[in-house]
Amino acid sequence: MIELKSAEEIDRMAVTGRFVGELLAELREVADVGVDLMDLEHHARRRIKERGAASCYWDYAPSFGRGPFRNVLCLSVNDAVLHGLPHRYALRDGDLLSIDMAVGVDGWVADSALSVVVGTADPDDLKLIEATEVALEAGIDAARPGSQIGDISAAIGEVARRYGYEVNNEFGGHGIGRTMHEAPHVPNDGRSGRGMRLRPGLTIAIEPWFCRGTDKIRFDRDGWTIRSADGSRTAHSEHTVAITEAGPRVLTRRPGHEARPGNRSGQAAAG
Ligand code: MG
Ligand code: MG
Repeated sequence: MIELKSAEEIDRMAVTGRFVGELLAELREVADVGVDLMDLEHHARRRIKERGAASCYWDYAPSFGRGPFRNVLCLSVNDAVLHGLPHRYALRDGDLLSIDMAVGVDGWVADSALSVVVGTADPDDLKLIEATEVALEAGIDAARPGSQIGDISAAIGEVARRYGYEVNNEFGGHGIGRTMHEAPHVPNDGRSGRGMRLRPGLTIAIEPWFCRGTDKIRFDRDGWTIRSADGSRTAHSEHTVAITEAGPRVLTRRPGHEARPGNRSGQAAAG
């Protein structure tokens, strides 16, 4: 069942979204060469507790994971792209880190992700991150009343191909609201003019992720961490978006995010 949200409920999701955006922006600043993934995880746990928020990841136990998730962040490094399990690992120069988080505040959930290179960036990694960010914006722009889910999917897939990446359609975006994962599924590739029609009050997470060399993935033995099958680097960008009469409203915007694709120094991606 799809629950359309009232304007007031969307405002409440925006409160959560603002916190998620602020915390992701903070984590992006903290992430640096030599910083341990568990330091990022503990930073987030502390901030979530202070805010009185509830992590949607803690104790999350879907069919594919091995045992419940006991972290508040997904931290995916280099060839890891989704559901990266935080562990003791000090980030190295040039690592590509994806940070994904979803929390609830007063019962309303927001979900967002970003990718960043720490230290010296490979221009091809920045280009990959840029592609996921451009695809995300294209998907958001397609999320308008009267359009269809397939319009979002097609917009994302078109950007991927323009950048030269293939799309894996096994994991994509989703409805969101009182819980993290609701109907409908929002694939990262598809055909425009197909799928459910978008109505004001629909709230969805849009989340393109691409691998540099393949559309195939493999799972770690932990059952969580998803990697590119060929070991190539990967990136992931996500926002929670409300469809409103006035158009798409992004609930998880981060200050400065758009001005700095992929790299904290603001360096533009080559190619
Ligand atoms: Mg997410
Ligand atoms: Mg999501």
